Amino acid sequence: MLTVDQLQNLNGKVVLVRVDFNVPLKNGEIRDDNRVVQALPTIKELLGKGAKVVLFSHLGKVKHKEAPEVVEEQKKKNNLAPVAKRLGELLGQEVLFSEATRGEGLKACVASLKAGQALLVQNTRYEKGEEKNDPELAADWAALGDAYVMDAFGSAHRAHASTYGIPELLKGQGKPVAVGYLVQKEVENLNRCVKVSESDRPYIAILAGLKVSTKIKVIDSLLKKCDQIIIGGAMANTFYKALGYPTGDSLVEDEFVEYAGKCLEQAKGRILLPVDAVIANAFENPTEVKVASTKNTPDGFQGLDIGPETRKLFADAISKAKMVFWNGPMGVFEQDAYQAGTIAVCEAIKGLKGKAFTVCGGGDSAAAAKQFGYFNDFSHVSTGGGASLEMIENDGHLPGIDVLG
Ligand code: ADP
Ligand code: MG
Repeated sequence: MLTVDQLQNLNGKVVLVRVDFNVPLKNGEIRDDNRVVQALPTIKELLGKGAKVVLFSHLGKVKHKEAPEVVEEQKKKNNLAPVAKRLGELLGQEVLFSEATRGEGLKACVASLKAGQALLVQNTRYEKGEEKNDPELAADWAALGDAYVMDAFGSAHRAHASTYGIPELLKGQGKPVAVGYLVQKEVENLNRCVKVSESDRPYIAILAGLKVSTKIKVIDSLLKKCDQIIIGGAMANTFYKALGYPTGDSLVEDEFVEYAGKCLEQAKGRILLPVDAVIANAFENPTEVKVASTKNTPDGFQGLDIGPETRKLFADAISKAKMVFWNGPMGVFEQDAYQAGTIAVCEAIKGLKGKAFTVCGGGDSAAAAKQFGYFNDFSHVSTGGGASLEMIENDGHLPGIDVLG
């Protein structure tokens, strides 16, 4: 697979670049420009080589099945124009913006580019065919470019026109397609958690968060690869039920109790579950919050974080790891009362700094690491929530990356 630094003779050539500029916006203002910052190395490399850089990204959701006025409203809300301005500030040079997402308007904008200039195209999801990988749309876009670079790791698990259709066509025409620096870094780091080398053992996965149902494939995959799996979060409740423990009012996915039981059997003691929990008599504004054994959650109470004994138990297990993959907060970390479990896990991972390879994957997990100040204590924090998990599930394969190979 080609990497962006290997692309040659780009002077005056049009390079189509898929980036992930899906930034949080509020009233048209960018609240966190991290995704734009992360894309800079690739963009600078291409501009430095004299390319005409045409950037594509989605932003938020545009549901084309809705009524026309709803679609218009969603388009207005998810307008990429402010990102062109911000990117221009970060690059120290003007970035052009094309309101047209295809056709003559877009062609004219691309034609107006000079070597070493960048153009950002309006939200790819303004186009109905983007998410369906519509062949005509992909052909229109591909016709604009001499080369393609994929640097949107957070979108690499989607086979859309901008992530799959364009590179598939260009590759077929013998034009160069490559991965950008951000994708390269993500792939290298996540692949280490997928193709495990003996020197990275013991390899411990920490899985928590909301649901077993959305993470079955992750659990299955990690059960095969890891030496130990620590389970926390709401997900653990389904495992308690499989063990026959009363779960009170905790969130349990009844349809997955059987699956959880099978995992426990298959794991042969490699799954480590919480022994105590912080339980409350309501999700919001409870009148009673206390610690109880996970073997018996009383009726009227629900588990909302791991308890103090478990924090010690998990920290001790983590301290023995050579490699850690962490996905999923231990509790309802959005509320102050249930943050301690997630913080304790982050602290234990921090303790491995310089001694082990540690990765955080998952949207909420990365947000928690950032919120609690542990972002820089991981060897790698993935920029792609869903994409990082799919990479683990599919043994290192993602459509938007495989298509380049
Ligand atoms: P990620 O995005 O990192 O993959 P998830 O989306 O699976 O993580 O899980 C995050 C959510 O899980 C958070 O909103 C958190 O409040 C919730 N959560 C964690 N533990 C519990 C619990 N015991 N009860 C209810 N919700 C929980
Ligand atoms: Mg999430």
